[in-house]
Parts: sequence; C-alpha cells; structure tokens
Amino acid sequence: MAFNILVADDSATMRVVIKKTVEMAGVPVGRFFDAAHGKEALEILENNWIDVILSDINMPVMGGMELLREVMANEDFKRIPLIFITTESSEARMDEARKLGVAGYVKKPFQPETIKKILYEVLEKAFQHTVEAPPQPAAESGDDDDMDF
Ligand SMILES: [Mg+2]
Repeated sequence: MAFNILVADDSATMRVVIKKTVEMAGVPVGRFFDAAHGKEALEILENNWIDVILSDINMPVMGGMELLREVMANEDFKRIPLIFITTESSEARMDEARKLGVAGYVKKPFQPETIKKILYEVLEKAFQHTVEAPPQPAAESGDDDDMDF
C-alpha cells in the first residue's frame, strides 16, 4: 500500500523539507500534493484521494486549525488523519487541536526521526495494519541524519 500525502504549509521550502523527510523515512508514498494554505488543501481534498495530511497551523487565507475543523466536519474527509507540523506550541492551541481530533503534533524545528515516528504511528492506527518501510540503502558514511529544520 502506498499513501497519498497532502502537505500544507505556506513555506515552499518547508514543504520540500517535509516531503524529503517523509521519503527518507521510507514511508511508501503514492503521490505528494502541495498546498500553500487551508483553502488550497480543501480543493485538493475535493479532487483527489488523500490518505494523510501534514499541515502547518499558521498560514494565510486559511490556517491549519480551520482546515482541521473543515476536515473533521466533512463526512468524506474526517477519516483522513491530520498531523500538525508547526512552530505553534502553546498548550491552549495543542488542547484545541486535540479536541478537534488532530492525529498528531510535531513542533518545528523537528528531527526527521520525530516525523517518521509519528507518521508511522498515525498510519498504522488509521489503516490498522503494519506499515512496512522498504529496505533502506545502507547509510553512507558521513551521512548526516541529524538535520535540524
Ligand atoms: Mg506557516
């Protein structure tokens, strides 16, 4: 099984970084979709099969909280787990996100390992089967796995 992943972030650079991180984590990806804000994300959801959403909170036009609210209020979308990847770290915000039904929460700057761990947990829970990472090529020496974005 390969997953279609929607990445919503107003920073194009951050979207690239997130996609690279997901690829490096060995998650079987069907297709990546990009959105610069919540409204774009909703348009993509209307027209494509998406398995998981990785979203920023602070974005213009429509932020992540509103996107989460819209997703959870939609019969067709509420099955889709949404993970926040955000600099927003106030307890109140996290609490609000939990109440709305967020599937996971990653703080920026993040370690690739954190994204990997949460993504696998969320996918396994959502799809109720073990997600197997393909065998990873042997790490090259000098490979820096400690990128800090
Ligand atoms: Mg942002």
